[in-house]
Amino acid sequence: MRWILVMALVGNVAYTETVREKQTKMGSPFILTAVHEDEDLAKAAIAAAWQEIDRLEAMISSWRQTSETSAVNRAAGLNPVVVSPETYGLINRALKVSSLSGGAFDITFASAGRFWDFRSGELPDPAAVAKAVEAIDYRNVLLDPDKQTVFLVQPGTRIGFGAIGKGYAANRALRVMVAMGIKSALVNAGGDLVATGVQEDGAPWQISIQHPRERKRLLAQLRITEQAVVTSGDYERFFMVDGKRYSHIIDPRTGYPVEGMQSVTVICPDAELADALATTVFVLGAEKGLELVNRLKSVDAIVVDATGTVTYSLNIHDQIMDGPVSNTQHTTDK
Ligand code: ADP
Ligand code: MG
Repeated sequence: MRWILVMALVGNVAYTETVREKQTKMGSPFILTAVHEDEDLAKAAIAAAWQEIDRLEAMISSWRQTSETSAVNRAAGLNPVVVSPETYGLINRALKVSSLSGGAFDITFASAGRFWDFRSGELPDPAAVAKAVEAIDYRNVLLDPDKQTVFLVQPGTRIGFGAIGKGYAANRALRVMVAMGIKSALVNAGGDLVATGVQEDGAPWQISIQHPRERKRLLAQLRITEQAVVTSGDYERFFMVDGKRYSHIIDPRTGYPVEGMQSVTVICPDAELADALATTVFVLGAEKGLELVNRLKSVDAIVVDATGTVTYSLNIHDQIMDGPVSNTQHTTDK
């Protein structure tokens, strides 16, 4: 009996390998982690997950002329476009979040968003933005379930998956690894995290959430499994003009970057939903955003407003666990 116990321990602890790889995807640093006794299997699963992310990037990136997103955008005001069931489903779910958020989350933000160039750091022409705002409305995205088409009714409307695509890619990458026999894995898609199983030592994945301005201040230490943790912030992609910070999250009502928020972290089982909701809460602001989160089952959030004040959703304490802390830390640092 004693012998069996020793074998079991050796099997679980000593021979479990953690493989971790980093690459830039979708314009952000991605890190894939897989835990398995068979290191070659872990490596193969990670390779398959990279391929999956590349496939999705080619499918939805608005930077690529050959993507389905670009095809839909080119046909704005002209004709419906047949898309893959996958893109159709993603748009359908994005539109649901739009109506849930009262339009705060809106993939047609890109109608105005395309005038904001965060690399040049130049402010867009206000008249161009004002005109583009008229083309922002998720209700102008018409889906035909029989024909599997997407039609942007207004000529100026554009869609973009910046606020939901990484979450979707994180979900898919995790599923691909699980399908290959990996039971414990962590996907970090540019700060959008999703995890399954446990770490090499059997402890849950540990995620540290930092304050967006005070980098040494921890807002929470989460110990998660089967959960996603996604942060939207004004500190990763932004530019300054005359001392004013312009973030990359656009208020669909104005076409201008949202002010009044520093960061939003959403915790829920689904990375795609967490991604979309983090952006939603960022646009809605602390009060309305948390009101929405508190109404949703299995969704929690940590919100830091423009003054740096931190507010937590009502059930967040179910997520922040006590107990011994493992050494491995995964931050949402981007
Ligand atoms: P991050 O890229 O830091 O994870 P988000 O998930 O909040 O942050 O995504 C921000 C991106 O979403 C922007 O760069 C833009 O592409 C897109 N976006 C901006 N404003 C909106 C909005 N109101 N609704 C939907 N998508 C948006
Ligand atoms: Mg998002």
